[in-house]
Amino acid sequence: MKIPKSHPRYVMLSTQQKLVRGVEKGITSLEGLMAHGRGESFDYLLGEKTHDFALKAIDAAARLLLKAKHPIISVNGNVLALVGKELIQLSKAIPAPLEVNIFHTSKKRESAMKKELLHLGASQVLMPSRQFTISGIDHNRKYVHKEGIYKADVVFVPLEDGDRCQALVKNKKKVITVDLNPKSRTSKTATITIVDNIVRCMVLLLVEIKRLKKKGPPYATMKYNNGMALLAAEKRLRS
Ligand code: ATP
Ligand code: MG
Repeated sequence: MKIPKSHPRYVMLSTQQKLVRGVEKGITSLEGLMAHGRGESFDYLLGEKTHDFALKAIDAAARLLLKAKHPIISVNGNVLALVGKELIQLSKAIPAPLEVNIFHTSKKRESAMKKELLHLGASQVLMPSRQFTISGIDHNRKYVHKEGIYKADVVFVPLEDGDRCQALVKNKKKVITVDLNPKSRTSKTATITIVDNIVRCMVLLLVEIKRLKKKGPPYATMKYNNGMALLAAEKRLRS
C-alpha cells in the first residue's frame, strides 16, 4: 500500500507497513504484530514523541554500551523489520556483534533474519547455539551464542519479553531495553529502559554514541535512576 506523505497518520501507517513487509519476508511473526499494537497504544498516550525521561535513558545507554567489555545487540523479528539499517549502524558504531534471538521458535525465521541482516550490510551475525544457554528460562530463548549473549556484560535487547529480561539480569548482565510500556516486567527489570518508540529512539541513540565517540574515552557514567525514569513515564501516561 502506498501511503501519501500528507496523511496525518503517515508515520504510524508506514511503520505498520514495515512490519507487514517483515511478515511477508518471513522475519516477523504474527504474534509480533500484536506486540506492536500494544506498543502503539502506549505511544498514542505518550503523544507519539520522545520525552525527557527517554533522552536521559538514551544518554545513559550510549555510555554503558561504549564502556562495555563485551556488548551485544539482540535482534528479534519486530526490531529487524522496523530498524534494520540502524541496527547495523549501531553494531558498527559501538562496535558490538548482532545476535538473532526470537521468542517463537523457528529455524526458518532465524535464517531469514540472518539473511536480511547480511543483506543490510552486517559484517557478522551470531545465531543461537544448542550448546550454550542462559539459566532461568526454559523456552527457545535460553539458547545463545558463546561469543554473544553468553559472554556479554551488556545486552541491548529492545522489545524484550519479561521472562528473558529477568533471566539476563539474573545471569549478571546489564540490560538496556526499549519498551513503550513503563509497567511491563521488562521495563521494571532492565538496567536501563528507554520508554520510547524504537523507530524514533534508535536514531537518537546513534547520534548520542557518535557524539560521545567524537570526544573519546573515558565515557563518564552520568547519574541515572531507571525507577525514576519509569515513574516519569507513568506520570506522563496518566496525565
Ligand atoms: P513483559 O513480558 O515485559 O511483561 P508484555 O508481555 O506485555 O511485556 P512483550 O510482547 O513481552 O509484552 O514485549 C513487547 C513490549 O514491547 C511491550 O511492552 C510493547 O508495549 C513494546 N513495544 C511494542 N512495539 C514497540 C515499539 N515499536 N517501540 C517500543 N516498544 C514497543
Ligand atoms: Mg511478555
